[in-house]
Amino acid sequence: MCSVGDSFDIELEDKLAPKNYMCKDCKNKFKGIGKNVKCPSCQSGNVAESG
Ligand SMILES: [Zn+2]
Repeated sequence: MCSVGDSFDIELEDKLAPKNYMCKDCKNKFKGIGKNVKCPSCQSGNVAESG
């Protein structure tokens, strides 16, 4: 309904392609693969996809 921006969901190479994440704790930006992504800087699991 109200999709802002370009939320493009491609499920072909999505499983192995690294995604951009941002740590909510230390604001570190990094790339991660998989479901349980941890921040390489502070080892926090409190991360969010950032694109
Ligand atoms: Zn962090």
